[in-house]
Amino acid sequence: MNIDIVNENISFDVYKLRKEFPLLDQQINGCPLVYFDNAATNQKPLSVINSIREYYETINSNVHRGIHTLSERATEAYENSREKVREFISASGSNEIIFVRGTTEAVNLAASTYGMQFINEGDEIIVSAMEHHSNLVPWQNLTSRKKALLKFIPITDNGELVMDEFKSMLNEKVKFISVVYVSNTLGTINPVKEIISAAHSYNIPVFIDAAQASPHIKIDVKELDCDFLAFSGHKTYGPTGIGILYAKEKYLDLMPPYQFGGEMIKNVSYEHTEYNNLPFKFEAGTPNISGAVSLASAIDFINEKGLLNIARHESDLLKYAENRMNEIEGMNIIGNAKNKTGVISFIINGIHPYDTGSILDNLGIAVRTGFHCTQPLIEQRYNLPGTVRISFAVYNTVEEIDRFIDGLHKVKKMLS
Ligand code: PMP
Repeated sequence: MNIDIVNENISFDVYKLRKEFPLLDQQINGCPLVYFDNAATNQKPLSVINSIREYYETINSNVHRGIHTLSERATEAYENSREKVREFISASGSNEIIFVRGTTEAVNLAASTYGMQFINEGDEIIVSAMEHHSNLVPWQNLTSRKKALLKFIPITDNGELVMDEFKSMLNEKVKFISVVYVSNTLGTINPVKEIISAAHSYNIPVFIDAAQASPHIKIDVKELDCDFLAFSGHKTYGPTGIGILYAKEKYLDLMPPYQFGGEMIKNVSYEHTEYNNLPFKFEAGTPNISGAVSLASAIDFINEKGLLNIARHESDLLKYAENRMNEIEGMNIIGNAKNKTGVISFIINGIHPYDTGSILDNLGIAVRTGFHCTQPLIEQRYNLPGTVRISFAVYNTVEEIDRFIDGLHKVKKMLS
């Protein structure tokens, strides 16, 4: 089936688009690759791969330091990329965009700067019961060091936040909230705008983990009015080792630096250091310049295809896959929120997720098995030993889902 996606004045054909992703064109275990592990990391278009190469072939140099031409060019490319990210998430100023290694580092930065400075004994921090470990463990660590309390927004069996419960958890003791925009395990798109506005009525700042949102839905930090937000380049068709932390300037101004040395310094004597202006105050040492530059190419790729087109395509795949999966006897889909991205966690009765994953891999189909870095969610909330997870990207097709369903039938035949 040829899915031609047309929206406003942008259109793309998924089969033509797949040619932009060289990695997809290969055999795994003698079968054409089906890559359904996009929530872990997605594949890179040629434009992104070429931009890394071009950076090293033409302008590689250290940023912000030299007066020589190459250094100026590298600095310009790096700062243009910051501006591209600003536009991508509709932030007010590019000084509110900090380049980091990824979402995990962004959460750690917030916890160990804002958190260490402003969270005190007896305070409360709220996260949800569906957080990725990266948005759980830093807050667990902070609250245990500060003798503060970490509380969890409960979730329904369908995988939606219990919003009434959340609102009843708000009081003057709550000093910070951090929630995931889109769950990497359940696919749930959380009502983060509602969370932020309820939190702001108590003047509580909110951090949004947008690691699974950035490749699928338009992020608008002004409209959301979030105080902090993070995403990773490698889940956004960009390279590994680069991501961003957005924070409102008023918070970045209040926060102490995260790491010390290099770029974050304005003036140093033997006795004293004056820190640099934003955003450099939070970018110690030589940054991942080629990563930032190629993240800009990844954003160009997304803009060119159109996030709405991407979302519509993935939503069609989600519906098709869920319908076909429900044909399989003993199929349990974990996470049936009304508002979902193309992520499906499941177990087949009586079959261990690991066995399903191994057999699918033998058929060239890459899926993820286990806890998906949400062990408390899977083990404590859903009481499961793990799940199998498939997750879609812009280049996936209905035929790939058909192959996956054939694979599941084989799994059942072999293991039931
Ligand atoms: N949060 C969510 C929801 C994620 O899916 C991930 C990555 N799986 C992370 C945080 C951590 O991102 P990274 O590994 O890129 O730092």
